[in-house]
Amino acid sequence: MDFSSKLLENAVYEMSQLPGIGKRTALRLVLHLLKQPENQTNMLAEALSKLRSEINFCKSCHNISDTEICEICSNPKRDSSIICVVEDIRDVMAIENTSQYNGMYHVLGGKISPMEGIGPQDLNIVSLVNKVKKGEVQELIFALSSTMEGDTTNFYIYKQLEGLKVTTSTIARGISVGDELEYADEVTLGRSILNRIPFESAIKAS
Ligand SMILES: [Zn+2]
Repeated sequence: MDFSSKLLENAVYEMSQLPGIGKRTALRLVLHLLKQPENQTNMLAEALSKLRSEINFCKSCHNISDTEICEICSNPKRDSSIICVVEDIRDVMAIENTSQYNGMYHVLGGKISPMEGIGPQDLNIVSLVNKVKKGEVQELIFALSSTMEGDTTNFYIYKQLEGLKVTTSTIARGISVGDELEYADEVTLGRSILNRIPFESAIKAS
């Protein structure tokens, strides 16, 4: 692509670094921003820059939060004896939307994926195991997507918990293989949390 302006070229390049955005789409978006009132583009730039510099992760569950301990973790009405293990904030949002779950979450920040070079040490697993070791957690619900990476991650954590007094379960697979949690409809997802099954029987079935 030949650009008549270095400024334009730079903006298009940065935009095209986003997932799913090719050079053409990037150009379209950049030209769109140029047509907008200047303060609108500034607001976008400021929101992104603030997001990066001020973003905070809950010290307990690792979810994105504006406060040190997030609203869910600090809510005394939530059941702290149950922890739902999820990949990222999208899963927390999806499960919260079902209104069927009143426990806590633990956000891993990804899934174990040798292909992408993501190992257990890259995820928030140690803090999860430590939480269980404190003895206040009675049940862990694995709610990762049922992909190879999700299964590997579940099994890895399950092994880390060996000998600890905690029940492990996995959300019922009403959600078909490979589907991401965030795409499951609320009713299906809510039901699969209520109908969760012991993790041991899930391993035997697969
Ligand atoms: Zn939290």
